[in-house]
Amino acid sequence: MLLTNIKVPQEQVSFLQAVRQGLGREQGLFFPTSWPKLDIDALLQLGLVERSSLILQALLGDELSAADVDAMVSKAFTFPAPLVSVADDIACLELFHGPTLAFKDFGGRFMAQALAKAQAGSKTTIVTATSGDTGAAVAHAFYRQPGVQVVILFPKGKISPLQEKLFTTLGDNITTLAVDGDFDQCQALVKQVFDQKELVEKLSINSANSINISRLFAQICYYFEAVAQVPADKRHEVVIAVPSGNFGNLTAGLIAKALGLPIKRMVAATNSNDTVPRYWRSGQWQPKTTVATLSNAMDVAAPNNWPRVEALLKQGVISRDDIEAVMVDEDDTVLGVRQLSQLGYLSEPHAAVAYKALKRSLHQGEYGIFLGTAHPAKFKEQVENILGTPLALPEALARCAAEQGLSQDIPADFAVLQQALLKLEQA
Ligand SMILES: *Cc1c(COP(=O)(O)O)cnc(C)c1O
Repeated sequence: MLLTNIKVPQEQVSFLQAVRQGLGREQGLFFPTSWPKLDIDALLQLGLVERSSLILQALLGDELSAADVDAMVSKAFTFPAPLVSVADDIACLELFHGPTLAFKDFGGRFMAQALAKAQAGSKTTIVTATSGDTGAAVAHAFYRQPGVQVVILFPKGKISPLQEKLFTTLGDNITTLAVDGDFDQCQALVKQVFDQKELVEKLSINSANSINISRLFAQICYYFEAVAQVPADKRHEVVIAVPSGNFGNLTAGLIAKALGLPIKRMVAATNSNDTVPRYWRSGQWQPKTTVATLSNAMDVAAPNNWPRVEALLKQGVISRDDIEAVMVDEDDTVLGVRQLSQLGYLSEPHAAVAYKALKRSLHQGEYGIFLGTAHPAKFKEQVENILGTPLALPEALARCAAEQGLSQDIPADFAVLQQALLKLEQA
């Protein structure tokens, strides 16, 4: 599939080239300009792996054989995405049954497969910024993969201690840097790395955050899995609410809709970092300073996937009415976790933001799905504070919570980061 740099449309690359490069010239995002036609009804009959492989073959079939795509999907999607009913007309799509207990395992693991194909055995260094879950998913997906060094930047003290332990305890080919700053500063540092052409070439640097197109493509697949589990009589009434930070997840849902999946409307749910809801109302793009919230993986003031949403609108495959943008403040987030608990469903702040936004949007007769992007135990402190009851840790989390974090502190200073990268090259 040919992908075009949204900022510099003359720059066109293949899928594998885009996977290798991450970002295009002038930090432009790669994106398709047209979409294949799919037989939706037939696809909805299939299981997750078989269906996902066919969807990705439709997108990548000109570059990768059906057998290759099949193998990549089977290796990446090794866990389910169940739709769990919480009320008559509302269900949670649980995307947290992978190794790091967050939806980013889907994108991270498929990206690891795609990059292995794209690199064809040569060395590479992955530099990525995380507001929490991307780091863990990327670290686990590439842990001990031959020829791959991973460098993860995260805002020191701004992600939950458990989240941090999930990726700072691995060591080996995983280097973690605790940046004295917020997530937007971490992201800005990574962008600066990609501006240094010489450095990028010397270390063969790649980014694995939500801008990498392979992650988005993988994420399209679980929207199909969601609709496939909706009762047949409700399939044309589906509204999906997405707890959003960088807006990769929402973009993937919009692509699924553009590919023909029956989704009536997407609800873009944010916490108090509400650049998109304000933009949707006023037409003014005015990011403010990032504020810390309970749903900290969504504490993003300048969401870097937004140009792709604009591209879908410009292509005419999505219309403005397909998206509703809703801000959910801290009080309402707490209320959401409590209300879900009263319904007998244990949740956490990110999903609760989507749940509350969905409740505001949903009309009579519609069927609402909110995405469960992380396991409640990943946000143990917040959930325990809100509900006032202790929460047990699943095996995988309990194990790494007991281990020693190995991250190094650095200031939000590009020169320091550059030195760290060069040192890694010499090691
Ligand atoms: C990353 C993340 C989000 C936000 O997803 P985007 O694709 O960046 O919008 C929401 N919830 C959780 C738990 C996350 O880790």
